[in-house]
Order: sequence, then structure tokens, then C-alpha cells
Amino acid sequence: MKRLPEIQINLFQLAVLLDEEDKKFYDYVIAHNVYCSHCRGVAKEGIDVEEVYLTDLNDIRVQGRCKVCNGVVGRLFEYGEKKDFYERANRFRNSIKI
Ligand SMILES: [Zn+2]
Repeated sequence: MKRLPEIQINLFQLAVLLDEEDKKFYDYVIAHNVYCSHCRGVAKEGIDVEEVYLTDLNDIRVQGRCKVCNGVVGRLFEYGEKKDFYERANRFRNSIKI
């Protein structure tokens, strides 16, 4: 199988990709469940998302900053494991011709 390229997407494109359940999970994790290595624990105030990527496995990877210490943090959302998300992501890739 051909490896998909990792592409950077914007927040509007992310919103199109996530269904209601995905979005709830995403919002929860961003606010309560991203590990910050500087704080040595969960980013207590959540994070500011700066960059979003659709990975080669159709997972979502975000990079941002901890709202407490401003340290760089990242989180992978393994949405690509869900068949409906994976197919939605492929349709999205086709629609933007990458
Ligand atoms: Zn922190």
C-alpha cells in the first residue's frame, strides 16, 4: 500500500474531518489530557493548538503550547484506526488533491 504523505491542515479543515464524537474527544483532550514535559504532568489549563497535521496513517497530530508554562507540547489522536474517519480523511485528501 502506498504511504500517504503527512499534510498540515488548518482548524477549519480539522472541523470538517471530525464528527461529533471525535470533536468531543478532541476538545476534552486539548483541555484536560495533554502531557507537558515541562510541568511534568498534564497541562492543567489545557493547550493552545498552533499546528495540526494529518499523518501518514490518517491520525491527527497537534502541536501547541501549554497554557501554564508556554512549553511546547504535542499530542497524537489515533482517529485513523476508525474506519469511518480513515475513509473521510481519504476523501478529504482527494478533495484537496494531495
Ligand atoms: Zn506546562
